[in-house]
Amino acid sequence: MNDRILIVEDNKALAKLLAKKLQGALNITIDIAYTLQEAKLFTAKYKYFLSLLDINLPDAPNGEVVDYMLEKSVPVIVLSANIDKEFRQKILKKDIIDYVNKGGMNDVHYIIQTIERMQKNRKHKVLVVDDSMLVRKQVSSMLRNLFFEVVSVAHGEEALAMLDIHPNISLVLTDYNMPVMNGLELTYEIRKRYTKSDICILALSSNQDEEINALFLKQGANDYIKKPFSKEEFSVRINNSVEALENIQEVTNHANRDFLTGLYNRRYFYEAMAEYLEELEDSVEQFVIAMIDIDHFKKINDKYGHDVGDKVIVALSEILRTSTNHKDIVARFGGEEFCLVLKNINRYSAPEILERILQEVSNHVCKPNKKESIKFTISIGASMYDDTQSIEETISQADMMLYQAKNSGRNQLSFA
Ligand code: GH3
Ligand code: MG
Ligand code: MG
Repeated sequence: MNDRILIVEDNKALAKLLAKKLQGALNITIDIAYTLQEAKLFTAKYKYFLSLLDINLPDAPNGEVVDYMLEKSVPVIVLSANIDKEFRQKILKKDIIDYVNKGGMNDVHYIIQTIERMQKNRKHKVLVVDDSMLVRKQVSSMLRNLFFEVVSVAHGEEALAMLDIHPNISLVLTDYNMPVMNGLELTYEIRKRYTKSDICILALSSNQDEEINALFLKQGANDYIKKPFSKEEFSVRINNSVEALENIQEVTNHANRDFLTGLYNRRYFYEAMAEYLEELEDSVEQFVIAMIDIDHFKKINDKYGHDVGDKVIVALSEILRTSTNHKDIVARFGGEEFCLVLKNINRYSAPEILERILQEVSNHVCKPNKKESIKFTISIGASMYDDTQSIEETISQADMMLYQAKNSGRNQLSFA
Protein backbone atom coordinates (compact mmCIF):
# COMPACT_ATOMS: atom_id res chain seq x y z
CA MET A 1 0.00 0.00 0.00
CA ASN A 2 1.17 3.51 -0.74
CA ASP A 3 2.19 5.88 1.99
CA ARG A 4 -0.38 8.59 2.52
CA ILE A 5 0.60 12.22 2.96
CA LEU A 6 -1.56 15.15 4.05
CA ILE A 7 -0.88 18.66 2.77
CA VAL A 8 -2.54 21.42 4.77
CA GLU A 9 -2.16 24.72 2.92
CA ASP A 10 -4.75 27.41 2.24
CA ASN A 11 -3.12 28.63 -0.96
CA LYS A 12 -4.98 26.26 -3.28
CA ALA A 13 -2.81 26.73 -6.32
CA LEU A 14 0.33 26.11 -4.32
CA ALA A 15 -1.12 23.08 -2.54
CA LYS A 16 -2.19 21.50 -5.82
CA LEU A 17 1.11 22.20 -7.52
CA LEU A 18 3.00 20.71 -4.60
CA ALA A 19 0.74 17.64 -4.59
CA LYS A 20 1.28 17.14 -8.29
CA LYS A 21 5.05 17.40 -8.03
CA LEU A 22 5.21 15.01 -5.10
CA GLN A 23 2.92 12.49 -6.74
CA GLY A 24 5.00 12.61 -9.91
CA ALA A 25 8.17 11.82 -8.04
CA LEU A 26 7.07 9.50 -5.25
CA ASN A 27 4.91 6.45 -4.88
CA ILE A 28 2.45 8.08 -2.47
CA THR A 29 -1.19 9.08 -2.06
CA ILE A 30 -1.86 12.72 -1.24
CA ASP A 31 -4.81 14.48 0.39
CA ILE A 32 -5.13 18.25 0.51
CA ALA A 33 -6.83 20.18 3.29
CA TYR A 34 -7.22 23.96 3.09
CA THR A 35 -8.12 24.56 6.75
CA LEU A 36 -7.42 23.05 10.16
CA GLN A 37 -11.06 21.93 10.24
CA GLU A 38 -10.61 19.92 7.03
CA ALA A 39 -7.32 18.55 8.26
CA LYS A 40 -9.11 17.19 11.34
CA LEU A 41 -11.65 15.41 9.15
CA PHE A 42 -8.89 13.80 7.08
CA THR A 43 -6.93 12.62 10.11
CA ALA A 44 -10.07 11.06 11.55
CA LYS A 45 -10.44 9.06 8.37
CA TYR A 46 -6.89 8.07 7.34
CA LYS A 47 -3.58 7.14 8.81
CA TYR A 48 -0.80 9.41 7.53
CA PHE A 49 2.85 8.69 6.94
CA LEU A 50 3.53 12.38 7.39
CA SER A 51 2.02 15.83 6.93
CA LEU A 52 3.19 19.03 5.23
CA LEU A 53 1.76 21.97 7.12
CA ASP A 54 1.30 25.66 6.46
CA ILE A 55 1.41 27.39 9.84
CA ASN A 56 -0.75 30.27 8.75
CA LEU A 57 -4.27 29.03 8.02
CA PRO A 58 -7.58 30.94 8.01
CA ASP A 59 -8.84 29.07 11.07
CA ALA A 60 -5.39 28.50 12.64
CA PRO A 61 -3.14 31.54 12.15
CA ASN A 62 -0.43 30.62 14.69
CA GLY A 63 0.71 27.13 13.82
CA GLU A 64 -2.08 25.41 15.78
CA VAL A 65 -2.22 22.75 13.07
CA VAL A 66 1.33 21.65 13.98
CA ASP A 67 0.38 20.94 17.59
CA TYR A 68 -2.76 19.20 16.47
CA MET A 69 -0.89 16.81 14.13
CA LEU A 70 1.81 16.08 16.70
CA GLU A 71 -0.92 15.29 19.22
CA LYS A 72 -2.33 12.82 16.71
CA SER A 73 1.16 11.36 16.23
CA VAL A 74 1.34 12.40 12.60
CA PRO A 75 4.94 13.39 11.74
CA VAL A 76 5.23 16.99 10.57
CA ILE A 77 7.20 18.95 8.00
CA VAL A 78 6.46 22.65 8.28
CA LEU A 79 5.96 24.69 5.14
CA SER A 80 6.95 28.24 5.70
CA ALA A 81 7.17 31.42 3.68
CA ASN A 82 9.74 33.18 5.82
CA ILE A 83 12.43 31.40 7.72
CA ASP A 84 14.17 33.85 10.02
CA LYS A 85 16.28 32.84 12.96
CA GLU A 86 13.63 33.46 15.60
CA PHE A 87 11.05 31.42 13.72
CA ARG A 88 13.50 28.61 13.15
CA GLN A 89 14.36 28.30 16.80
CA LYS A 90 10.73 28.42 17.85
CA ILE A 91 9.53 25.86 15.36
CA LEU A 92 12.41 23.46 15.94
CA LYS A 93 11.53 23.24 19.63
CA LYS A 94 8.54 21.20 18.52
CA ASP A 95 9.02 17.59 17.52
CA ILE A 96 8.86 18.23 13.79
CA ILE A 97 10.98 16.46 11.18
CA ASP A 98 12.02 19.60 9.38
CA TYR A 99 10.85 22.95 8.07
CA VAL A 100 11.05 23.90 4.42
CA ASN A 101 10.64 27.02 2.42
CA LYS A 102 7.66 26.77 0.12
CA GLY A 103 9.15 29.13 -2.42
CA GLY A 104 10.62 27.59 -5.54
CA MET A 105 11.50 24.38 -7.37
CA ASN A 106 14.59 23.79 -5.25
CA ASP A 107 12.40 23.63 -2.20
CA VAL A 108 10.06 21.12 -3.81
CA HIS A 109 13.10 19.06 -4.67
CA TYR A 110 14.24 19.24 -1.06
CA ILE A 111 10.79 18.13 0.17
CA ILE A 112 10.85 15.14 -2.18
CA GLN A 113 14.33 14.16 -1.01
CA THR A 114 13.29 14.49 2.61
CA ILE A 115 10.22 12.30 2.17
CA GLU A 116 12.25 9.68 0.31
CA ARG A 117 14.84 9.74 3.07
CA MET A 118 12.15 9.18 5.73
CA GLN A 119 10.67 6.30 3.73
CA LYS A 120 14.07 4.64 3.54
CA ASN A 121 14.95 5.37 7.17
CA ARG A 122 12.15 3.02 8.23
CA LYS A 123 14.28 0.13 7.03
CA HIS A 124 17.17 1.02 9.33
CA LYS A 125 17.64 0.02 12.92
CA VAL A 126 19.85 2.27 15.05
CA LEU A 127 21.66 1.35 18.26
CA VAL A 128 22.22 4.21 20.74
CA VAL A 129 24.99 3.62 23.28
CA ASP A 130 25.21 6.13 26.11
CA ASP A 131 25.41 5.75 29.88
CA SER A 132 23.23 8.82 30.45
CA MET A 133 19.59 7.89 30.39
CA LEU A 134 18.65 11.46 29.52
CA VAL A 135 20.88 11.49 26.43
CA ARG A 136 19.63 8.03 25.42
CA LYS A 137 16.06 9.27 25.64
CA GLN A 138 16.68 12.52 23.75
CA VAL A 139 18.71 10.91 20.99
CA SER A 140 16.28 8.00 20.63
CA SER A 141 13.37 10.38 20.34
CA MET A 142 15.13 12.44 17.67
CA LEU A 143 15.92 9.27 15.74
CA ARG A 144 12.34 8.01 15.97
CA ASN A 145 11.25 11.36 14.63
CA LEU A 146 13.35 10.57 11.57
CA PHE A 147 11.52 7.22 11.26
CA PHE A 148 14.36 5.01 12.44
CA GLU A 149 13.75 1.97 14.56
CA VAL A 150 15.77 2.50 17.73
CA VAL A 151 17.27 0.33 20.45
CA SER A 152 19.46 1.72 23.21
CA VAL A 153 21.91 0.46 25.81
CA ALA A 154 24.11 1.96 28.56
CA HIS A 155 27.58 0.67 27.68
CA GLY A 156 29.79 -1.11 25.18
CA GLU A 157 29.41 -4.69 26.39
CA GLU A 158 25.66 -4.43 26.20
CA ALA A 159 26.02 -2.91 22.76
CA LEU A 160 27.97 -5.91 21.45
CA ALA A 161 25.36 -8.28 22.86
CA MET A 162 22.64 -6.19 21.20
CA LEU A 163 24.38 -6.42 17.82
CA ASP A 164 24.32 -10.21 18.15
CA ILE A 165 20.59 -10.23 18.89
CA HIS A 166 19.69 -7.68 16.20
CA PRO A 167 21.74 -8.58 13.12
CA ASN A 168 19.96 -5.89 11.10
CA ILE A 169 21.30 -2.87 13.00
CA SER A 170 22.86 -0.59 10.42
CA LEU A 171 23.89 2.43 12.47
CA VAL A 172 25.55 2.74 15.90
CA LEU A 173 25.67 6.03 17.80
CA THR A 174 28.12 5.85 20.66
CA ASP A 175 29.19 8.05 23.53
CA TYR A 176 32.86 8.05 24.58
CA ASN A 177 32.86 8.01 28.38
CA MET A 178 31.01 4.95 29.61
CA PRO A 179 31.57 2.35 32.31
CA VAL A 180 32.74 -1.21 31.50
CA MET A 181 33.67 -0.50 27.88
CA ASN A 182 34.10 3.01 26.49
CA GLY A 183 33.13 4.21 23.03
CA LEU A 184 36.59 3.80 21.53
CA GLU A 185 36.90 0.20 22.69
CA LEU A 186 33.41 -0.46 21.44
CA THR A 187 34.24 0.99 18.02
CA TYR A 188 37.33 -1.22 17.87
CA GLU A 189 35.31 -4.32 18.78
CA ILE A 190 32.55 -3.56 16.27
CA ARG A 191 35.09 -3.06 13.48
CA LYS A 192 36.62 -6.46 14.25
CA ARG A 193 33.24 -7.97 13.39
CA TYR A 194 31.57 -5.60 10.92
CA THR A 195 32.88 -3.64 7.96
CA LYS A 196 31.87 -0.15 6.92
CA SER A 197 29.44 -1.64 4.43
CA ASP A 198 27.68 -3.54 7.25
CA ILE A 199 27.44 -0.92 9.96
CA CYS A 200 28.01 2.82 10.17
CA ILE A 201 29.43 4.13 13.47
CA LEU A 202 28.98 7.71 14.66
CA ALA A 203 30.62 8.97 17.84
CA LEU A 204 28.82 11.44 20.07
CA SER A 205 31.73 13.39 21.50
CA SER A 206 32.11 16.28 23.88
CA ASN A 207 33.86 19.41 22.78
CA GLN A 208 36.84 18.94 25.10
CA ASP A 209 38.28 15.82 23.56
CA GLU A 210 39.57 16.83 20.13
CA GLU A 211 42.07 13.95 20.24
CA ILE A 212 39.36 11.48 21.03
CA ASN A 213 37.54 12.45 17.87
CA ALA A 214 40.59 11.66 15.77
CA LEU A 215 41.01 8.37 17.61
CA PHE A 216 37.40 7.50 16.90
CA LEU A 217 37.99 7.98 13.19
CA LYS A 218 41.20 5.94 13.30
CA GLN A 219 39.41 3.16 15.12
CA GLY A 220 36.91 2.97 12.26
CA ALA A 221 34.10 5.36 13.16
CA ASN A 222 32.54 6.94 10.08
CA ASP A 223 32.03 10.37 11.64
CA TYR A 224 31.47 12.15 14.95
CA ILE A 225 28.92 14.64 16.19
CA LYS A 226 30.08 17.12 18.81
CA LYS A 227 27.92 17.62 21.87
CA PRO A 228 26.00 19.82 22.31
CA PHE A 229 24.46 19.64 18.86
CA SER A 230 21.40 21.24 17.36
CA LYS A 231 18.55 19.01 16.31
CA GLU A 232 19.03 20.25 12.79
CA GLU A 233 22.72 19.37 12.61
CA PHE A 234 22.00 16.00 14.17
CA SER A 235 19.33 15.16 11.57
CA VAL A 236 21.47 16.17 8.64
CA ARG A 237 24.52 14.24 9.84
CA ILE A 238 22.55 11.12 10.59
CA ASN A 239 20.72 11.23 7.28
CA ASN A 240 23.96 11.80 5.38
CA SER A 241 25.65 8.87 7.10
CA VAL A 242 22.79 6.50 6.40
CA GLU A 243 22.71 7.62 2.80
CA ALA A 244 26.45 6.96 2.47
CA LEU A 245 25.95 3.50 3.96
CA GLU A 246 23.18 2.75 1.47
CA ASN A 247 25.43 3.84 -1.40
CA ILE A 248 28.23 1.54 -0.25
CA GLN A 249 25.79 -1.32 0.11
CA GLU A 250 24.39 -0.72 -3.34
CA VAL A 251 27.83 -0.86 -4.92
CA THR A 252 28.62 -4.06 -3.05
CA ASN A 253 25.31 -5.51 -4.15
CA HIS A 254 26.07 -4.71 -7.77
CA ALA A 255 29.33 -6.57 -7.58
CA ASN A 256 27.84 -9.60 -5.85
CA ARG A 257 24.55 -10.05 -7.61
CA ASP A 258 23.40 -11.18 -10.98
CA PHE A 259 21.80 -8.31 -12.84
CA LEU A 260 18.82 -10.18 -14.33
CA THR A 261 17.62 -12.09 -11.27
CA GLY A 262 19.16 -10.31 -8.29
CA LEU A 263 20.53 -13.66 -7.10
CA TYR A 264 24.17 -14.06 -6.08
CA ASN A 265 26.49 -14.40 -9.05
CA ARG A 266 28.99 -17.20 -9.48
CA ARG A 267 31.89 -15.18 -8.15
CA TYR A 268 30.08 -14.24 -4.97
CA PHE A 269 28.78 -17.77 -4.53
CA TYR A 270 32.32 -18.94 -3.77
CA GLU A 271 32.84 -16.09 -1.32
CA ALA A 272 29.58 -16.88 0.47
CA MET A 273 30.51 -20.56 0.52
CA ALA A 274 33.92 -19.84 2.05
CA GLU A 275 32.24 -17.78 4.78
CA TYR A 276 29.75 -20.56 5.42
CA LEU A 277 32.48 -23.19 5.74
CA GLU A 278 34.31 -20.97 8.19
CA GLU A 279 31.11 -20.60 10.21
CA LEU A 280 30.66 -24.36 10.25
CA GLU A 281 34.19 -25.07 11.48
CA ASP A 282 33.95 -28.29 13.45
CA SER A 283 30.17 -28.37 13.72
CA VAL A 284 28.30 -31.46 12.55
CA GLU A 285 25.94 -29.44 10.37
CA GLN A 286 25.47 -31.05 6.95
CA PHE A 287 24.54 -29.40 3.70
CA VAL A 288 23.64 -30.24 0.13
CA ILE A 289 24.68 -28.61 -3.12
CA ALA A 290 22.23 -28.79 -6.02
CA MET A 291 22.85 -27.82 -9.64
CA ILE A 292 19.70 -26.84 -11.49
CA ASP A 293 19.25 -26.40 -15.23
CA ILE A 294 16.16 -25.53 -17.28
CA ASP A 295 15.11 -28.28 -19.69
CA HIS A 296 15.15 -27.54 -23.43
CA PHE A 297 15.63 -23.87 -22.73
CA LYS A 298 16.98 -23.32 -26.19
CA LYS A 299 13.56 -24.24 -27.58
CA ILE A 300 11.88 -21.62 -25.38
CA ASN A 301 14.29 -19.00 -26.69
CA ASP A 302 13.83 -20.13 -30.29
CA LYS A 303 10.05 -20.23 -30.08
CA TYR A 304 9.30 -17.12 -28.02
CA GLY A 305 12.43 -15.00 -28.29
CA HIS A 306 15.27 -14.11 -25.94
CA ASP A 307 13.26 -11.60 -23.87
CA VAL A 308 10.67 -14.21 -22.99
CA GLY A 309 13.50 -16.61 -22.18
CA ASP A 310 14.81 -14.02 -19.72
CA LYS A 311 11.44 -13.88 -18.01
CA VAL A 312 11.42 -17.65 -17.61
CA ILE A 313 14.84 -17.39 -15.94
CA VAL A 314 13.50 -14.72 -13.58
CA ALA A 315 10.40 -16.83 -12.82
CA LEU A 316 12.60 -19.78 -11.88
CA SER A 317 14.82 -17.60 -9.71
CA GLU A 318 11.78 -16.45 -7.77
CA ILE A 319 10.60 -20.01 -7.20
CA LEU A 320 14.06 -20.97 -5.98
CA ARG A 321 14.17 -18.00 -3.64
CA THR A 322 10.74 -18.53 -2.13
CA SER A 323 10.97 -22.29 -1.75
CA THR A 324 14.24 -22.23 0.17
CA ASN A 325 15.23 -20.96 3.60
CA HIS A 326 16.39 -17.43 4.15
CA LYS A 327 19.91 -18.65 4.98
CA ASP A 328 20.28 -21.00 2.03
CA ILE A 329 22.44 -19.82 -0.86
CA VAL A 330 20.80 -19.39 -4.25
CA ALA A 331 23.10 -18.36 -7.09
CA ARG A 332 22.83 -18.03 -10.85
CA PHE A 333 25.92 -19.64 -12.30
CA GLY A 334 25.25 -18.41 -15.81
CA GLY A 335 22.70 -18.85 -18.58
CA GLU A 336 19.88 -21.06 -17.35
CA GLU A 337 21.98 -22.78 -14.73
CA PHE A 338 21.60 -22.25 -10.99
CA CYS A 339 23.33 -23.50 -7.89
CA LEU A 340 21.56 -24.03 -4.61
CA VAL A 341 23.02 -24.73 -1.19
CA LEU A 342 20.56 -26.20 1.29
CA LYS A 343 22.07 -25.57 4.69
CA ASN A 344 21.63 -27.58 7.85
CA ILE A 345 19.92 -30.51 6.18
CA ASN A 346 20.24 -34.31 6.13
CA ARG A 347 20.15 -36.77 3.23
CA TYR A 348 16.47 -37.56 3.84
CA SER A 349 14.98 -34.07 3.85
CA ALA A 350 17.10 -32.71 1.02
CA PRO A 351 15.50 -34.85 -1.73
CA GLU A 352 12.05 -33.98 -0.38
CA ILE A 353 12.72 -30.28 -0.74
CA LEU A 354 14.27 -30.66 -4.19
CA GLU A 355 11.39 -32.84 -5.40
CA ARG A 356 8.99 -30.18 -4.16
CA ILE A 357 10.87 -27.55 -6.17
CA LEU A 358 10.63 -29.78 -9.28
CA GLN A 359 6.87 -30.01 -8.70
CA GLU A 360 6.46 -26.32 -8.13
CA VAL A 361 8.32 -25.44 -11.32
CA SER A 362 6.38 -27.93 -13.47
CA ASN A 363 3.07 -26.59 -12.09
CA HIS A 364 4.05 -22.98 -12.59
CA VAL A 365 2.58 -21.06 -15.51
CA CYS A 366 4.83 -18.23 -16.64
CA LYS A 367 3.00 -15.34 -18.29
CA PRO A 368 5.67 -13.22 -19.94
CA ASN A 369 3.08 -11.15 -21.80
CA LYS A 370 -0.64 -10.99 -22.53
CA LYS A 371 -0.50 -13.57 -25.31
CA GLU A 372 1.74 -16.29 -23.98
CA SER A 373 1.45 -18.83 -21.18
CA ILE A 374 4.57 -20.93 -20.84
CA LYS A 375 5.22 -24.07 -18.85
CA PHE A 376 8.72 -25.38 -18.34
CA THR A 377 10.61 -27.98 -16.34
CA ILE A 378 14.03 -28.27 -14.74
CA SER A 379 16.49 -31.03 -13.97
CA ILE A 380 18.36 -31.19 -10.68
CA GLY A 381 21.60 -32.91 -9.75
CA ALA A 382 22.49 -32.85 -6.06
CA SER A 383 25.18 -34.07 -3.78
CA MET A 384 25.74 -34.13 -0.04
CA TYR A 385 28.91 -32.43 1.10
CA ASP A 386 31.27 -34.43 3.23
CA ASP A 387 34.37 -32.91 4.73
CA THR A 388 36.79 -35.25 2.99
CA GLN A 389 36.00 -33.34 -0.22
CA SER A 390 36.44 -29.81 -1.46
CA ILE A 391 33.50 -27.64 -2.45
CA GLU A 392 34.62 -27.92 -6.08
CA GLU A 393 34.45 -31.71 -5.85
CA THR A 394 30.93 -31.59 -4.40
CA ILE A 395 29.86 -29.23 -7.17
CA SER A 396 31.31 -31.42 -9.88
CA GLN A 397 29.56 -34.43 -8.36
CA ALA A 398 26.27 -32.50 -8.42
CA ASP A 399 27.06 -31.62 -12.05
CA MET A 400 27.48 -35.31 -12.87
CA MET A 401 24.15 -36.04 -11.21
CA LEU A 402 22.58 -33.27 -13.29
CA TYR A 403 23.94 -34.89 -16.44
CA GLN A 404 22.38 -38.14 -15.30
CA ALA A 405 19.01 -36.48 -14.64
CA LYS A 406 19.09 -35.00 -18.15
CA ASN A 407 19.98 -38.35 -19.72
CA SER A 408 17.25 -40.16 -17.83
CA GLY A 409 14.58 -37.99 -19.41
CA ARG A 410 14.76 -34.56 -17.65
CA ASN A 411 12.24 -33.05 -15.19
CA GLN A 412 13.77 -35.11 -12.40
CA LEU A 413 16.22 -35.22 -9.55
CA SER A 414 19.38 -37.30 -9.29
CA PHE A 415 20.80 -37.32 -5.80
CA ALA A 416 24.12 -38.75 -4.75
P1 GH3 B 1 18.94 -29.09 -21.83
O1 GH3 B 1 17.57 -29.57 -21.52
O2 GH3 B 1 19.86 -30.17 -22.20
O3 GH3 B 1 19.49 -28.23 -20.72
O4 GH3 B 1 18.81 -28.18 -23.11
P2 GH3 B 1 18.87 -26.63 -23.22
O5 GH3 B 1 18.32 -26.18 -24.49
O6 GH3 B 1 18.25 -26.03 -22.01
O7 GH3 B 1 20.43 -26.36 -23.07
P3 GH3 B 1 21.48 -25.61 -23.93
O8 GH3 B 1 22.67 -25.47 -23.02
O9 GH3 B 1 21.68 -26.30 -25.23
O10 GH3 B 1 20.88 -24.20 -24.26
C1 GH3 B 1 20.82 -23.18 -23.33
C2 GH3 B 1 20.45 -21.92 -24.04
O11 GH3 B 1 20.26 -20.87 -23.12
C3 GH3 B 1 21.48 -21.45 -25.01
C4 GH3 B 1 21.61 -19.96 -24.75
O12 GH3 B 1 21.41 -19.20 -25.93
C5 GH3 B 1 20.51 -19.66 -23.80
N1 GH3 B 1 20.86 -18.65 -22.82
C6 GH3 B 1 21.98 -18.53 -22.07
N2 GH3 B 1 21.90 -17.46 -21.25
C7 GH3 B 1 20.71 -16.86 -21.49
C8 GH3 B 1 20.05 -15.68 -20.97
O13 GH3 B 1 20.55 -14.97 -20.10
N3 GH3 B 1 18.82 -15.38 -21.45
C9 GH3 B 1 18.23 -16.16 -22.41
N4 GH3 B 1 17.02 -15.80 -22.82
N5 GH3 B 1 18.83 -17.24 -22.93
C10 GH3 B 1 20.05 -17.61 -22.49
MG1 MG C 1 19.09 -26.33 -20.12
MG1 MG D 1 22.55 -25.59 -20.45
